[in-house]
Order: sequence, then C-alpha cells, then structure tokens
Amino acid sequence: MSAPRLEIRLDRICHNARTLVDRLAPLGVGVTGVTKATLGSPEVARALLRGGVGAIGESRIENIEALHRAGVRAPMTLIRSPMASQAGRVVTHAATSLNTELDVIDRLSAAAVERGRVHGIVLMVELGDLREGILPGALASVAKRAARFPNIDLRGIGTNLACQNGVTPDARNMAELSALVASLESALGRRLDVVSGGNSANLGWALGGGDPGRVNDLRVGESILLGCDVLDRHPIEGMRTDAFSLVAEVIESNTKPTQPWGTVGQTAFGPRAVGPDRGPAARAILALGRQDVDPDGLTPPAGRSIIGASSDHVVLETGSANLAVGSEVAFGLDYAALLRAMTSPFVERVYSLDGSPY
Ligand SMILES: *Cc1c(COP(=O)(O)O)cnc(C)c1O
Repeated sequence: MSAPRLEIRLDRICHNARTLVDRLAPLGVGVTGVTKATLGSPEVARALLRGGVGAIGESRIENIEALHRAGVRAPMTLIRSPMASQAGRVVTHAATSLNTELDVIDRLSAAAVERGRVHGIVLMVELGDLREGILPGALASVAKRAARFPNIDLRGIGTNLACQNGVTPDARNMAELSALVASLESALGRRLDVVSGGNSANLGWALGGGDPGRVNDLRVGESILLGCDVLDRHPIEGMRTDAFSLVAEVIESNTKPTQPWGTVGQTAFGPRAVGPDRGPAARAILALGRQDVDPDGLTPPAGRSIIGASSDHVVLETGSANLAVGSEVAFGLDYAALLRAMTSPFVERVYSLDGSPY
C-alpha cells in the first residue's frame, strides 16, 4: 500500500453515529451528520447514514455535488451561508441551506424559480460566538421578509457556537434559541419545523440532562468522526476515538545529536526554540509534512515523539531503537490534522469495514 495514507474504519464511524443518534433520539433531537472534515467523502457519508443520521451537512457545495455524483441519496444541507455567486448550484444540489443575508436569499429564490424548485432555508441567529448569525433583535423582520420570497421555504432557525470564540452552548443560550423560535412563530403565525441548536460542542449540554426545549437538530461532525467531546477533547463514553489513523513511511533512520550546530536563525516555519542537549538519540525521518497534515495534531505511538516538521519531513525520536528504513509508523489525528490530511492530494485514503478492505 502507498504512503502516506489515511486508514479509515467505516464501521467505527457508523458505530459512533449510531451511539449518538440513539442517545439523542429520546430527547427529540435528530442528527445531521457533517462530512466537511472528510472533503465530502461518500464512504463516510454512507457510514453516517447507516448509523442513523437524518441528513448530511456540508460546508461546500462542491462536496455536496461530489456526494450526489457518487450516488449518495439523502437530504443535503449546506451549512455555510451560500455564496450569492453559487446560488444556482446550491438550489440544484442542496435541499436546504443555512442563511443570514437577505441578498443571498433573494438570489436563491431567483435561482429556485428559474429551476422550478423550492429551496429550504434555516436562518442562523447570533447568540454570542460572533461568527455567522442574524442579531436576535433583527430576526423577526428578516424572517418575515425571507418568508415572502417565491420558492423559498423558511424551515426554521439555528445557531452556531464555539467555533469562533469558544462560547459554550449552555442552558441559557439554548433556552434563548427556544424562546426566539416561539416568538418568531407568533410573529409569522405559523409553526417552524427546524430548530438546529449547533454542532459537536452542544453534546455536553444535550446529553447533560437539561431540557432540550425546542431544539430538534444538531449538526455533528467531529464528535462522530473522532469520538471526543470538542470542548475538552476527552473521549465520549462508548465512542471510538480510533476511526482514523495516518500511516507514513520512514526514509531515514539514524542516531544523531539532539543539539544542532552552527549559527542558528529562523527555520522555514519561523523561529525554533532549541531544547536542552540530551546527547545522541535514535530518530527517524518520515515522508510526511505540512503539505500532508498538521503535524501538531498527530499522536505518535507510545515511546515515540515528534521533534520537528517542515513541508515534507516529520522528524520522530524513536526511543531506544532505530526504525528500519521503509517501515511504517501510524499516528492518531485531531480535527486539524484530519482536515488537512483529507484535503491533501498526497494522502491516499484506504477505507475498511472490520479491518478488511472496503
Ligand atoms: C463545521 C460546522 C458544524 C459541525 O461542526 P463539528 O464541530 O464538526 O461538529 C456544524 N455547523 C456549522 C455551521 C459548521 O460550520
């Protein structure tokens, strides 16, 4: 098999999705499975759907189109506000999009009319994390105008916390979302179907025994893919944290001093702190670098540590033994590392079910 490669255990992704879907269902909360960290992988999308998610969420229309081309049949939601310039593609391929701008909704409406389609929109509300969202005071007036556009179906409201400033979903801001949908419904004189409470960062709140109120959807990517709580990155009880591993090949193996020599300036990636002299150490260079992965997000096997990385090299200290040239090393990945590896053209993806090739 070629290296570097991402080994992807679809059975573990499916297990994580199922675990979450089953825990949230009694609360009346469904799951939109988010594939954006996998470059819209159809294999991952199918694993999420087998695990019971009701819809697929993607941040990029290109990925939604790729899912369609691969034959994935599920309701697709574009979870980043559409670019006005992509309105036609959005209404053709996404059943629903998350929106904050009337100008964009205007374009979606025109594109939907042209194509004889109805496009669903969910209006995002700003609840303090200061990324996308209509300010709560403006929600009713924006919603009233949005609902009047032809071929636009205003399906509900949503919010997104934690991504920009780390604002934590809690009883207070989630109760505010429920209160907002209730007052919006009286202003519009009709019921709204969707209240999308947030992303993986909402799981602590949702599973913590509080009242979900009107929230009936969460858009979850990272916690399903990596099995962890994103607020503290601890494993979630009963979920697999090892669905993905990144395998790289050793191209040099040697014992070298731990202190560089010569005059020391900046490296290709900025200033570098020189550590203490620990004498000679066994180390290996891997054919892997910042073009393939975010090396800061890799977890090496026990007894090995990453001591440096550049565009094309990761240097690993290997403890007491030298690794053989041509041998392979497998790493765990965090979200940043996974995202970069999935979007690198140099990293092959190898899918498996129960460890056997898919
Ligand atoms: C990325 C994203 C999600 C999913 O986030 P995870 O942390 O991967 O669960 C949900 N909603 C929006 C708007 C996003 O951008």
